[in-house]
Amino acid sequence: MTEKYTVAFLGLGHMGGPMAVNLVKAGYSVAGFDVVPAALEAATASGVPVAAGAVEAVSGADVVLTMFPSGRHVLEAYRGQAGQPGLLAAAKPGTMFLDCSTINVDEAREAASLAIEAGHRSVDAPVSGGVVGAEAGTLTFMVGGDAADFEAVRPLLDVMGRRVVHCGAHGAGQAAKICNNLILGVSMIAVSEAFVLGEKLGLSHQALFDVASAASGQCWALTTNCPVPGPVPTSPANRDYQPGFAGALMAKDLSLAVNALNSTGVAARMGPLAAEIYGTFAAGEGAGRDFSGIITDIRDMSGRPAGGGPENSAGSAPQSAAQDDGSPE
Ligand code: NAD
Repeated sequence: MTEKYTVAFLGLGHMGGPMAVNLVKAGYSVAGFDVVPAALEAATASGVPVAAGAVEAVSGADVVLTMFPSGRHVLEAYRGQAGQPGLLAAAKPGTMFLDCSTINVDEAREAASLAIEAGHRSVDAPVSGGVVGAEAGTLTFMVGGDAADFEAVRPLLDVMGRRVVHCGAHGAGQAAKICNNLILGVSMIAVSEAFVLGEKLGLSHQALFDVASAASGQCWALTTNCPVPGPVPTSPANRDYQPGFAGALMAKDLSLAVNALNSTGVAARMGPLAAEIYGTFAAGEGAGRDFSGIITDIRDMSGRPAGGGPENSAGSAPQSAAQDDGSPE
């Protein structure tokens, strides 16, 4: 591949739209496409050249980058359906298929096998960092694929991200993503339960934060995305749980984690429970709220706070804990 590849960018949604803009700004030749006309219009308005269709976008491309909602979308697009040619058939031999969607590990491996059987190359590279990271070009990419293919796509990923990690063979990028978010989902529930328990016991949010953030309860869910307003002024709790990382995405990622737990036979209990809890959260208003809003569900199911609550500001003055670089998604 040449230094500045020709990129077919398929899936110009919340994430793909701004990612494609950053590639164009960096001088890449991009042909964008999305099945939703509004996404095409938004991309055009942002300076991303769009093609008349997926096949048109893919023909002549060195890299086919997909940013779709799910694995089903990826596999159907690769294979084609309803008599329409798929992306694999439309691409020239040796094209790099770079899927940045968050999908099942098994689906990522299947997508890679299909691409390689069709004479192409394949890398899975799901992201974290959210729409803010997509716009700023500060995403983290978790990459699965051959070392040579990783090196080939790295310059492209460096444009859209700040951190690019080669996690292993095909599917390893997806594996890293769902393992991380399994930790995150469970830890946010634990932190939220601890704050509600503290409320019941008359402990102020700030006092619990001051202790736990400097003790063994320390974690990202507490020190960066703190589910109560006050202790970490930048956390979504301070803006009525505007995401951030939406509950719907946490529910999706945990369902992918549960699929992987089941297919591998891991004797997990916390992960499936967290998936169930976030599934309920996302079935209601939680879908569009930050996932730290799970604390309101826990509080509602616990009755009125006995001795604390958001209005309980006793304790030391608010302060910002050591924070990392923001959203996990
Ligand atoms: P989105 O729904 O906004 O965008 C997906 C786009 O893909 C849509 O515009 C849809 O029309 C398009 N699409 C679907 N099938 C297509 C096809 N065959 N051809 C062309 N376009 C097609 O979703 P999003 O928020 O941009 O997320 C994309 C992926 O990134 C998901 O897998 C998500 O889990 C993951 N992700 C999202 C975030 C986030 O904060 N939104 C963060 C990290 C990872």
